[in-house]
Amino acid sequence: MAIHLFTIPINQLQGVGSKKSEELHALGIFTVGQLIEYYPFRYEDYQIRALHEVKDGEKVTVQGSIASVPVLQRFGGKSRLFCRVTVDGLLLTAVWFNRNFLQSQLVPGREITLTGKWEQRRKQITVAESEFPDQGVMRSGTVQPVYSIAGTLTQAWMRKTIERALTQYGNLIPELLPEELVAKHRLMERREAIMRIHHPENTREGQEARRRMVYEELFLFQLKLQNYRATHLKQHDGLVHLVNNDEIRDFVSKFPFELTAAQKQVINEILHDMKQPFVMNRLLQGDVGSGKTVVAAVGLFATVRAGHQGALMVPTEILADQHMRSLQKIFEPFGITVGLLTGSVSGRKRKDLIAALQMGLLDIVVGTHALIQEDVYFRSLGLVVTDEQHRFGVQQRSVLRRKGMNPDVLTMTATPIPRTLAISVFGDMDVSTIRERPKGRKPIKTYWVKHEMMDRVLGFIRREAEAGRQAFFICPLIEESEKLDVQNAIDLHMQLVQGLPELSIGLLHGRMSADEKEATMGKFAAGDTNVLVSTTVIEVGVDVPNATLMIVMDAERFGLSQLHQLRGRVGRGEHQSFCILIADPKSENGQERMRAMTETDDGFEISRRDLEIRGPGDFFGTKQSGMPEFRLANLLLDFEVLEQARDDAVALTAREDWWSSPQYHLLREQLQRDSNDVVEPLD
Ligand code: ADP
Ligand code: MG
Repeated sequence: MAIHLFTIPINQLQGVGSKKSEELHALGIFTVGQLIEYYPFRYEDYQIRALHEVKDGEKVTVQGSIASVPVLQRFGGKSRLFCRVTVDGLLLTAVWFNRNFLQSQLVPGREITLTGKWEQRRKQITVAESEFPDQGVMRSGTVQPVYSIAGTLTQAWMRKTIERALTQYGNLIPELLPEELVAKHRLMERREAIMRIHHPENTREGQEARRRMVYEELFLFQLKLQNYRATHLKQHDGLVHLVNNDEIRDFVSKFPFELTAAQKQVINEILHDMKQPFVMNRLLQGDVGSGKTVVAAVGLFATVRAGHQGALMVPTEILADQHMRSLQKIFEPFGITVGLLTGSVSGRKRKDLIAALQMGLLDIVVGTHALIQEDVYFRSLGLVVTDEQHRFGVQQRSVLRRKGMNPDVLTMTATPIPRTLAISVFGDMDVSTIRERPKGRKPIKTYWVKHEMMDRVLGFIRREAEAGRQAFFICPLIEESEKLDVQNAIDLHMQLVQGLPELSIGLLHGRMSADEKEATMGKFAAGDTNVLVSTTVIEVGVDVPNATLMIVMDAERFGLSQLHQLRGRVGRGEHQSFCILIADPKSENGQERMRAMTETDDGFEISRRDLEIRGPGDFFGTKQSGMPEFRLANLLLDFEVLEQARDDAVALTAREDWWSSPQYHLLREQLQRDSNDVVEPLD
């Protein structure tokens, strides 16, 4: 059995004493194997370049010879050292700050290598680092790795230590990938790639090494997902929901509308999964207004009829209230009970509700984060639905899931991750998509107007109100702020009360109590208020089909997906709906978003453009989304590699000899090791 790099403690390396060991431990490096896989996050390029290729302000390394006696200037406690240097036949000035000790070494005629910022106009280099070739060159002409370090560790020490580890143990670096994949993608050998990633001869070589390691990282990730699915999901028996299709048909026939073909299809997919003995983990993506709630309702109905309970978790109290109301309406005729559990349900009410859940007296509970509190138990939780999933962390979702014995899980989102990305990343998740809106919906007309057109906007509201319709008026802040020159909800409310005296104007914002919010929302939903001025508390999910006008104040302050969510609050009934974006036409980064909004109301297209404008890091919004983090890979840049890696992983795990053949032994071992330190990929 070969010595394993991951069993050699880091202090076995020459030059790594107990102090340094400790500092490396703090970076998560305990073994030589881990040190070797501690990749640089960028490179410092000391390759010698010709000055005429260098742009003004760029950092550059050049080689030349000293052409004048140096001049030292002192000011305060600081100093500045000047001298002339000839580079490529050009006479330039080199400037060092606080390096007076160099003065004696700057001898005319001596060769020198300078690294620093090039200022074209003044023909000057502000020197960051310099070397004399007659003393032996260390960095010049090379590309040097830059590591993420802390404490007393320095880049030079890290470079030297990793270099030493590679020299001493490099021959023990095994190839992990199957030969056929290395050949198929023309990848660098693993040992070579690891050597080169720490120490590339040039930038291109660094890129090739990176390509190899990115592929490996993504391949291992995909393999893990496939593996998890094969071993975990299938073994771990889920609930077999026994439901009768006639009952489902009867339930669906009571809806006041005909389901769309897309809704029927995803309902079938969900019911099919629920009947299977493995755990369902399904992502339902559908644009705002596509009718995801009734789909969830059918799933909840099925779990109750099969003798279990259902939970629907939503991100806000307003949304919980609303879902509670609409589900109650749907379920009451069937004798199915629905309860509400949010942060503002407390005392006696809360106690009773929790007891009812525990005893199985309550069939369905709708709620916010309050659902995952420790003392909430179910008699038999069969289906967990989370709405607007991007609002919840991975943790929160799995806590809810663990309140049952492997309940089925349905996750709904209106901010679709581009489908291919979803499948590639959540390889273990099945994805259902609703691409169709209910019949008779007219596309929402979207306009982008200037603030000066407020009078016409008011006229528009008046007209819609006279026709019996209602309007949302959204603005970014609650109260006046000196810093931000934005209209705020309270002021705007006043302004509308004065400007539209014949109408009834409501106000909703996050500082109001839950009861106040509920009352305000209730009045608007009942049609008692014509206009609802609100902050983005209504952003997700709110459903008032009679509202046909969505006006967004200072729209450039909102993100694209957020604007689309807001727009999705209208266009939910048979009437023509409108979205008016009041935005500064000069706002530069706003323009792109406003244009996207006026050009399309397809949520998938919007999210594609959003991803494009913001990049994946921002788009997926930190760790909230449950997107995995990679050491080297970047999901947007390396997207094609991700897809390729997925196909390869699927093919490999489908092979009969995957579990037995010695050629995959190391790979299997690696997976084992990873599964200890990686969070469960599901969710
Ligand atoms: P979202 O997908 O944004 O959650 P909802 O489930 O809130 O959408 O549905 C939006 C509106 O469309 C609701 O008023 C709902 O009752 C209605 N609806 C859902 N499905 C249909 C359908 N097939 N035909 C007509 N209206 C529908
Ligand atoms: Mg919804």
